[in-house]
Amino acid sequence: MPDGVILARFGGDEFGAVALGDDAQLVLEAFATAIIDALVAPVQTAEHYLSVGVSIGIAFGHAGEHSGNELLRRADIAMYRAKKDKREPIQIFHAEMDEGLNFRRTMRQGLEEALSGNQLDLHLQPVVDARNGTLTSAEALLRWTHPLLGPISPAKLIALAEESGQIVAVDDWVLERALQHIKQLGDVPVAINISPVQFRRRDFARKIVDRLEAHGVSPGQLRLEITEGVLVTHTRAAGRAIAELREAGIKIALDDFGTGYSSLSYLKDFGFDFLKIDRGFIRALDDGRQGAELLRAIVDLGHSLSMRVIAEGVETAEQAGAVQLFGCDYIQGYFTGRPMPIDQFQDWQANAAVRELHSLAPHKPDIGNLGYQVSQVVK
Ligand code: C2E
Ligand code: CA
Ligand code: CA
Repeated sequence: MPDGVILARFGGDEFGAVALGDDAQLVLEAFATAIIDALVAPVQTAEHYLSVGVSIGIAFGHAGEHSGNELLRRADIAMYRAKKDKREPIQIFHAEMDEGLNFRRTMRQGLEEALSGNQLDLHLQPVVDARNGTLTSAEALLRWTHPLLGPISPAKLIALAEESGQIVAVDDWVLERALQHIKQLGDVPVAINISPVQFRRRDFARKIVDRLEAHGVSPGQLRLEITEGVLVTHTRAAGRAIAELREAGIKIALDDFGTGYSSLSYLKDFGFDFLKIDRGFIRALDDGRQGAELLRAIVDLGHSLSMRVIAEGVETAEQAGAVQLFGCDYIQGYFTGRPMPIDQFQDWQANAAVRELHSLAPHKPDIGNLGYQVSQVVK
């Protein structure tokens, strides 16, 4: 202990230190560094090396400016930041940390209300046959309209819910709503996105199968989309769950292919029904030939492993043309249909016959735009 520093134990593994005086800042920063240095070195016991993690948060104030409680609260916020940011175990409180925390707390409460009220909605985006534009399935995408903040992106919502543990409730909500949609649509399979944390629940696959039965929905009508991350972090659990789900007749898609690890062994070992090529590859088509080569290689890879291939994020007729040409089985994107509420989706479906004549079929791929020679791509 440096001179003049008061040390206290709050309980469990939490300690507090107070320094007073003009050089308090220097003293505390040096003290914090010394604590880290002393504790991070592994401790050797008879059989093991044990290592200890330390997170330190520091807050400063002038006499009369803040109460002791306020200083402690701030140090605590900084400490939690340090806990999250493993690379920087010492954090000094600054105002933005607090705003972030307050914001997340508010959002968490907001999500609680959203789940019990009617702020959430599940939109549907058409997935069409690449050859003729007929509807083959839909992807369900979560929408949250906050009463004050307006629409919140699902990516943010999911990240927030994963952090707060509300993800289980959110996923349950999505599953129930998707099953209702499936019943309403009749014969259009609907795919839902599965958060990686789901795979931590041992009963995850069982629960989905149970809900299908409870709703009287056939397993072929529900599809699940998962991203590669989960295969890396929860390899065994994911493998078990995927096998169980496929056995029950539920089809599985590997989402966002090409953005993460893109490990070929995962593709082979897990056995997916669909491969969804990330929209980054579709965008790359506009840059010319290399993008096209890459897309074609991925489509071939998917087909050689007996997967159907879905191109995501197709926005233009040119992109749709190229995707058709390279043998993608399905197209999903703003070009063929945006995510929309179910009643709009049903209108879209009703107009499909008319649209098919006008949308996909007449758009011959604009080979020139892709900087491509016809002879090279026609197999
Ligand atoms: P994702 O699964 O890759 O979903 C596709 C995203 O691409 C959606 O974004 C969709 O609106 C967007 N999109 C579709 N066509 C086009 C296009 O032509 N151009 C462009 N630029 N974008 C297109 P969205 O709805 O913002 O969802 C973002 C992500 O949030 C999803 O990515 C998914 O990872 C996650 N998410 C959405 N709903 C759920 C859910 O119910 N559960 C879970 N766990 N995650 C969800
Ligand atoms: Ca998806
Ligand atoms: Ca995707």
